Amino acid sequence: MELRKDYILDRYVIVSSSRGKRPFEFKREKEHKEEGKTCFFCPGNENLTPPEIGRIGTKKKWKIRWFPNKFPAVDKKGNPNIKTRKEFFTSASAYGHHEVIVETNNHKKQLADLTEKSIKEVLTAYIDRIKKLSSEKNIKYVCIFKNHGRNAGTSLVHSHSQLIAYNKLPELVKEKIKTSKKYKKCPYCRIIKLEKKSERRCFENPSFVSFAPYASRFHFENWIFPKKHITNLTQMSDKQLGDLAKILKKVLAKLKKLNASYNMELFYAPKGKDLHFHIEISPRISIIGGFEILSDDVINSLAPEEAAKFYRGEK
Ligand SMILES: [Zn+2]
Ligand SMILES: [Zn+2]
Repeated sequence: MELRKDYILDRYVIVSSSRGKRPFEFKREKEHKEEGKTCFFCPGNENLTPPEIGRIGTKKKWKIRWFPNKFPAVDKKGNPNIKTRKEFFTSASAYGHHEVIVETNNHKKQLADLTEKSIKEVLTAYIDRIKKLSSEKNIKYVCIFKNHGRNAGTSLVHSHSQLIAYNKLPELVKEKIKTSKKYKKCPYCRIIKLEKKSERRCFENPSFVSFAPYASRFHFENWIFPKKHITNLTQMSDKQLGDLAKILKKVLAKLKKLNASYNMELFYAPKGKDLHFHIEISPRISIIGGFEILSDDVINSLAPEEAAKFYRGEK
């Protein structure tokens, strides 16, 4: 597995042929009978996953369970240091951990269906992994994300999140940190204050706000921020985690009504850096085309102001 950089741009690719071997429950529309097949993530089939790393629950019955991804995009082999050969060929081993966090023991429930308490427990599982893996040598960032639904890249329907902890800072995280620094004070602290009163506001509770971002790249895109300048999930109080679970459930419940596939990504500041923690929910309703690939700009046919109305229940 190799991490490769574009010839001249700060754009990286992980070349991982083992990922191509993973089972795919959504392969063809007609093959939806696959549901009847053994689910690797269901209770009773624990022996079908790589050895468990941790769980929430009891020895006999787990509620949340995490283990290495059977088809990892990164692993702990090779040299994690990024090097350049012949000027244009920059690479390193795709070094790190790729794990699966099964969010529930119930095959029929998705994250949106879980209780606030259970969603909060999923967040505590994220915290456990961020804490443990960030302290490891050569790990620069623990990416926590979720792919829900066939248009978001899920290969198994049983509700789960993933993490890839690897040997570089993701470019987008790097850019957000760098750009935030250009402002005298955290720009997001001010953006939140403006957006929670704007026509793009979606939800608010004592600790969090959610809004459809001004330049939404996805239909119904939603960003969730703590009102206080908190830089990582690991720094949140119990009350704040509870409020995060609440607001997350509200956003996801709305997306469920649309039956939308979505991705969810966590953005935070790794040790020694500053970034206002946030979660981005990226529904995968439209498909990107050539213009988007060419320009890295996006044509979004749904205004975030309209998306916000939907979230607020005005549409
Ligand atoms: Zn299952
Ligand atoms: Zn801030």
